[in-house]
Amino acid sequence: MEPLLRIGRITAAERLFAAKRDRDQIYRLDIRFAVSGSYRQKFTSIGNRIWRIRAYSGRNKNFVSPKPLICVVVTLVFLGAGGAAEFACAQEAQNRGRQNATPANTKPERNSNNGEVHLLPVQGNISMLVGAGGNITVQAGEDGILLVDAGVATMSDKVLEAIRPLSKRPLVYIINTDDREDHIGGNENIGKTGRPVPTDSQRYAVNNRVEASHAYIIAFQTVLDRMSTPSGQVAAIPEGAWPNDTYSVPQKNLYFNGEAIGIFHQPASTDGNSFVLFRRSDVVSAGDIFDPTEYPIIDLRRGGSIQGVLEGLNRLKQIVVPADHQEGGTMIIPGHGRLSDAADLAVYQQMVTIVRDRLQDMIKGGMTLEQVKAARPTRDYDPIYGSTTGNWTTDMFVEAAYKSLSSKKETSQSHGTN
Ligand SMILES: [Zn+2]
Repeated sequence: MEPLLRIGRITAAERLFAAKRDRDQIYRLDIRFAVSGSYRQKFTSIGNRIWRIRAYSGRNKNFVSPKPLICVVVTLVFLGAGGAAEFACAQEAQNRGRQNATPANTKPERNSNNGEVHLLPVQGNISMLVGAGGNITVQAGEDGILLVDAGVATMSDKVLEAIRPLSKRPLVYIINTDDREDHIGGNENIGKTGRPVPTDSQRYAVNNRVEASHAYIIAFQTVLDRMSTPSGQVAAIPEGAWPNDTYSVPQKNLYFNGEAIGIFHQPASTDGNSFVLFRRSDVVSAGDIFDPTEYPIIDLRRGGSIQGVLEGLNRLKQIVVPADHQEGGTMIIPGHGRLSDAADLAVYQQMVTIVRDRLQDMIKGGMTLEQVKAARPTRDYDPIYGSTTGNWTTDMFVEAAYKSLSSKKETSQSHGTN
C-alpha cells in the first residue's frame, strides 16, 4: 500500500522512527560522557549532542526535506537543553562536595589550602573535611567520632574545631590509609584528645604503649613498622602518633555509630594502604589509591607500585555502585580533590590502565627510562593530571611507574585488566 505522505525517499513514519532511534542513540552515547562530573566532560557531552545533530543533518540532507529536518534539529536541541538543565540540577546538588571543580583548563590546587578547613556533608553519617592536607573522612553519631586520616599536624586545631559540633561523644577512632605525612601528621594532636570506648572486639587491642586516654589509631601493620622504625631518611615519628590497633589480615571490621565499617588492605601508593567502606552510609574513603587531582603517587621507598594502584582502583570499582543515570550512588572520598562517584573513578581507572599498558609495552620493547620519558607516554593526560612543579611531577610519576613495572616485569602481566 502506498504511504500517505512521502518525504524524499522515506515516509513520515520511517522518519519518526529514525528520529527516535537517533535520540536513543544520543542518549546512550551521552551517558558515557555525562556521568563524569567535571565541567570538561559535561561540555563534551553537550558538544557531542551538537556533533550528532550535525552528523544527522549531513547524512540525511539528500533525501529529507528541510522542514522536517528543522523539526528534528529543534527536537534534538530541546533534548540537549533538557540535558543541560539536568546537569545544572545535578551540579547544584553536588556543589557542596564538589567545590573544587574548576573549568577544564585550570588545574585544581592539590590541597585547596587557604589555611582553612571546610566540612562538607556527604551522605548518611559521613562528612568530608578538606583543607588539612589529605582529605579527612568524618563519621559521627551516638557512639562518638571516627576519622579516616588526620591531615597535616599544623592543621589539627582547625580540624578539632570543625568536628567538635558533630557529636557530644569523644573521638574514638582514627584510621590511617597510609603513612604519608598528609594523612598521619595530625595523629598525635588529634589522637590525644580522644578516648577509647572498648567493645568486646577491641577491649584487648590497645597495648600499654599508649596511655588509656587516647583514640584508637588503626592502620595496616607496615604503617606502624615504618613509623616506629626510623630508617635514617625519615625523621622519627613520636610514639603518640603511632597506630595502636594494627591489622595484618586482608580485612578488619568495625561496628560504630550503628554502621558496619570494613577496612581493607590494598598495597598501592605504599605497601600499607587501606580503604574504608561505610556500608550503611554507602561511602568509601579511598585514601591515595584514588587521587583524581594528579597521577597516582607511587612511593617506591614505601613499597608502592603502579600495578598496586591499578588493582586498588579495580577493587574500588567492584564496590562502588552508581545510582540512576550513573550519577551518585556510592560516594567516594578520594585521598585528595573533590568528592567523587563511580563515573569519576571509572575515568581515572581507565587513565591509569592506559598509562600502565603504554609503559609496559615500552619496557617490553627494551626502552630505557630516558627513552620512555622522551616518548612522553602521558602526553594526552598531562593537561588534566600532569604537573611540572610541586611534590609529584609527571616526570616523577613516569619514573616511579617505570621502575615499579620493570622491577616485577614477570608477574605484572597477569593482573589489572578491567
Ligand atoms: Zn595523600
